[in-house]
This record gives sequence, C-alpha cells and structure tokens, in this order.
Amino acid sequence: MDNETSQTTFDELGLSEPVMKAVRDLGFEKPTPIQAQAIPLVLEGRDIIGASQTGTGKTAAFGLPAFSKMAKHGKCRCLVLEPTRELAAQVLEQFEIYGKHMDLSMVLLHGGVGYQPQLDKLNAGVDVIIATPGRLLDHFTRKSLHFRDIDFLILDEVDRMLDMGFLPDVRRIVTACKKQRQTLFFSATMPPAIETFAKWALKDPAEISIGRRTGVAETITHGFYPVAYEQRDELLLALLRSTDYESVMIFTRTKAEADKITALLKKQKDGFKATPMHSDIAQKDRTKALKGFRDGTFNVIVATDVAARGLDISNVTHVINYRVPENPEDYVHRIGRTGRAEQEGDAFTLLAGDEVEFAKAVEGYVGQKIDRKKLEGFNYIYTAMLDDEAPTGDALRQRLGMRRKRTGGRRRR
Ligand code: ADP
Ligand code: MG
Repeated sequence: MDNETSQTTFDELGLSEPVMKAVRDLGFEKPTPIQAQAIPLVLEGRDIIGASQTGTGKTAAFGLPAFSKMAKHGKCRCLVLEPTRELAAQVLEQFEIYGKHMDLSMVLLHGGVGYQPQLDKLNAGVDVIIATPGRLLDHFTRKSLHFRDIDFLILDEVDRMLDMGFLPDVRRIVTACKKQRQTLFFSATMPPAIETFAKWALKDPAEISIGRRTGVAETITHGFYPVAYEQRDELLLALLRSTDYESVMIFTRTKAEADKITALLKKQKDGFKATPMHSDIAQKDRTKALKGFRDGTFNVIVATDVAARGLDISNVTHVINYRVPENPEDYVHRIGRTGRAEQEGDAFTLLAGDEVEFAKAVEGYVGQKIDRKKLEGFNYIYTAMLDDEAPTGDALRQRLGMRRKRTGGRRRR
C-alpha cells in the first residue's frame, strides 16, 4: 500500500544468514516498504518492477535477496546497470557490505578510467558486475566478458537511464543475457516508456509501487477547467458530450457526490452508462461494476479515491476530476489511469473558486503549471477565472465578486 510504514522485520523476510549478518552490521532496524515487498518476491524467483522515491533503500531491495541466492563464489551471475559512475560506485560500496560475510568478488565497470585494471579483475573471475552501459558494452564487444551466466539482471534508476538515452545499449545487453534469469527493474518514477520496455525485458513481473509517482506521463494532456461552483454539473455533462471517449473514470471527493453524479448521468436523455464505485457499495456489486466496465456494459465509472486505489483499471481513455483532489498525490494516481503504455490519454479537472489552493498544491507537486482550459461553446456565467494569468486566492475571490458577466438569456439554477 502507498506510503505505509512497514511492520515487517528483516528476520521474517527469508534472507540468508551471511546476508542477515551484514544487515546487522549496517544497523538497519527495519526494512523500508520497498524492501519489505521486493525481498520475498525476489527470493521466490519473481521478476520485479519496483518504483519508489530516491532514498528509500532500493539498493538493498535488490542486493540483499540477490546475494542471499548467490551463496558461494562461482560464475558471473549478477549484473547491475546504473546510469552514472557515481551511482555505480555507490552501489558497489553498499554491495561490499552486503557481501562482507560471503566469498563474492565484484567489479565496477565504468568509463573515464583505464581498461587494464578492469580487465585484470574480470580475468580473475567475478560474481557481480556493477556497470554503466557504455563501458560494459565496450568490454562485451571486445569479448572480455559475456552475459551467459547472468541469473540476476538488475536495471537500476531506469528512468534516468532512459532520459540519458541508454535504452539502445541496455537493449543490447538484455538480449545478450541468458533467457533463464531474474530481471529486476528499479526506478524512482515509471514513465510509460519504461512500462513498454519492461514488457519486453521482464517475465510476468510483480509490480511494486510505493507512494508517490510524482511525474505526469507525457502522453497525457491534462488541464484545469475553471468553472463556477454551481455550473460544475453542467460543465461535466458538456465535457462528456464533447469528448470522444471509450471509457471514463470520474473522481469525486465523497461517496454522496459519486452517487449524485451517477444518478445525474443516468437520467440524461442521451444515456450515459454509468456506475458508482465507493466503499459503501457491496463487494459483489463492485465486482459486477468492474466486469461491466471491462465488457462495455458501463463506460463511465464514478469513483472515490479510496475505492479506486486498489482497482485494476488502467486503460481508461479519459479521467475527469469532478473536484480538485485535496491530496496532490491523488492527482497523479488518478490521471495515471489514462495514458499508460504510450496511449494518449486526457484528463480534465474541474476547478471551482474554492479549490484554487488545492490546484496550486497539485501544480507544486507535479512540478509544472497546468493549463487553464476553456470548453468552447459552453455558456460560462463567470469568465474571470478563464483569464490567461489565472489569479489565485484573495485576488480571485475579489475578481469573481466584481466581474460577473451577464450571459445572454441563460437561466441559472
Ligand atoms: P535509493 O536507491 O532508493 O535512492 P539507497 O538504496 O541508495 O536508496 O538507500 C538510501 C540510504 O538509505 C542509504 O544510505 C542506505 O544505507 C539507507 N538504507 C537503506 N535501507 C535501509 C533500512 N532498511 N534502514 C535504514 N537505512 C536504510
Ligand atoms: Mg538507487
């Protein structure tokens, strides 16, 4: 679960005795959440896609179980790829401690230094290679090493590896490894391009995602739709009608809101096939709703965050936030439902005057300004919030009060 502090202890994870001894040397008291989840799976032999922020102990999450399974000195069985020399060097430092009570030999291979010392180490026989892709491929091309015995292929900091353009190199390396292996992906974020790559490189991976995914995938167009509080339902309907969607998730803040919106959608003449999803809905009805959503009986799910979190719904074409999430992380979770694996996705967020602070928090969290958008042809009763430089806080409230636009003949509820 997200951001949960792990209650697990290292003793119950199943690590080998020499590795446990090293854990005690390190003074680690409890596994971090990514460690608690990843270690047993790696020990079981699973492939892993693990996402958690920087500084959450990913090195031990892959290093400790891999070392537990390697036991004695032998063939070159573990390969760790890192995007930079510094990171590779840090991993070696950690690995030397993990392996302190074992007879394993390790080598660091990165550019910017001579080949000979690296070759000498390789020739003496290593169990573990920690490398950056460029230099590793040099050695590979010169046939000073091979990957035929690799049992653990670990790609660390995959998002950065991708950013730095290492993907073609990494592909070549992956291809040269034996098929019978465990592949572990670790990254601070999981952009869609990684998921595509992972599908190719991994076998039935267990996905572990801890806490925040702060990034918004580039394939998602998302925007705030400023609107007067009392016009939200109208704008929601107008957005749905003007959008060519296959499946939509609408997020509400409360269960009552989810029920209200579902009822509103169902009673429209043009018939939205909507179903609610929240914790007051019985489990069997939730299962039915999900099944219906997958087979097309429903094309709109109206959900609260809590209900949505554990759902395996990842391929909706559109997400609509009826309210700006109060918790900025939820924004990323919600809109992450769309735009997976390089599919285009759209996310709309209605922004009422009382939510400007939440909107700012979301922008701070995702690290970007989110466009204020206007639905063409919609009869807005206020226009102040649609100005280019959207005012915030007091300025906004003041302007909302001051600049009220008369809208020709439209009835307000
Ligand atoms: P990440 O790769 O997720 O950025 P690291 O593996 O580099 O994180 O670990 C960050 C720091 O946390 C390191 O100094 C590491 O020694 C420490 N650390 C890792 N696991 C634990 C733990 N279970 N308890 C205490 N400290 C830990
Ligand atoms: Mg790391």
